[in-house]
Amino acid sequence: MRTDFPIAAFNNIETPFYYYDMGLLRETLATALREAAKYDNFHIHYAVKANFNPMILAAMREQGIGADCVSGGEVKAAIAAGIPAEKIVFAGVGKTDREIADALDAGIFCFNIESVPELQAIEALAAERGKVAQVAIRVNPNVAAHTHANITTGLAENKFGINYEQLDEVIDCIEGCEHLTLIGLHFHIGSQILVMDDFVELCSRVNELQKQLREKRGIVLPHINVGGGLGIRYDEPDECAVPDFAAYFAVYAENLKLEKGQTLHFELGRSLVGQCGSLITRVTYVKRGTCKQFAIVDAGMNDLVRPAMYGAYHKIENLSSCDACEKYDVVGPICESSDVFCKDVELPHCKRGDILAIRSAGAYGEAMAFGYNCRALPKAYLSDSIG
Ligand SMILES: *Cc1c(COP(=O)(O)O)cnc(C)c1O
Repeated sequence: MRTDFPIAAFNNIETPFYYYDMGLLRETLATALREAAKYDNFHIHYAVKANFNPMILAAMREQGIGADCVSGGEVKAAIAAGIPAEKIVFAGVGKTDREIADALDAGIFCFNIESVPELQAIEALAAERGKVAQVAIRVNPNVAAHTHANITTGLAENKFGINYEQLDEVIDCIEGCEHLTLIGLHFHIGSQILVMDDFVELCSRVNELQKQLREKRGIVLPHINVGGGLGIRYDEPDECAVPDFAAYFAVYAENLKLEKGQTLHFELGRSLVGQCGSLITRVTYVKRGTCKQFAIVDAGMNDLVRPAMYGAYHKIENLSSCDACEKYDVVGPICESSDVFCKDVELPHCKRGDILAIRSAGAYGEAMAFGYNCRALPKAYLSDSIG
């Protein structure tokens, strides 16, 4: 039985729910900030889409971390949490007029633009307001990150960013717009990346591009944004609770050639919040099939969709039992065969009412929950209030 979860408190709470270890979150943020601060021009933005729980956003604000948003709703959530507009960047291929107008009115730091029609829309809306919008070009660096196909974003075939061949046209277009100022280049190659060489490859693409822009057009932009993507160890939530930020930032410090006066921005999502969250669920029934034993739990794919959507692994623990282990398929109650959290997992003997923790669920967990089968969205509790 694990003692570092407040099991007595869990026993009195209706499941399923997300539980956030705020001590671990603070330690993770402090580590990331400390490691980034070793380089005086490195800035961290939090990728809000990983987890937009207001308490998580408040923790970011307390640490002075900015926000990377991919929708108007996220811009609003970041501002509502007290994150200053001048620390907010806004990316996304499909920003609507409403979202652009609101972000202009809020006075955000930068729009990461992904197409010519988008920059024309921003120009028109900024002109209406008599404002000048700061923009960065999201470049598609054509780097194949070693991660799940659904979460690579930096390939020419992906919908994101602007390809090299079209860069000149986009820069010309921005230079012709009175209400846009080009301040930077933005990149993001994907998510859950643990192979540091992928980031090394990104660095060499950025270096090449900077060289070309300087030599061909005499352009040196003040901001370089390399996105996020640093992965977490889903197999080792306790041993590797805090990601290796030192190694991650060192890759950029060693491989990226910044020009004088350039600031380097990071947009970290998963690595900041992933390990601090667990989805807590009860065993409703243990069902013995002919060749399988199922632990049917009260959480479903609607509460945590990563296993069903990405084939993702989450470590599962039985917090109520220290009996001998048996093999289970841990499954939810949703009417979909893909509603499986993990197959053939060894767990201490499970019985009805046992509480299980599905670990490493702080990122893309609660944020991706939905209401299929008329299910209520999962609640969330913090260690600060129930620990
Ligand atoms: C999702 C996203 C991130 C964060 O990715 P993580 O893998 O969670 O670090 C950063 N930047 C952009 C543009 C994104 O879309």
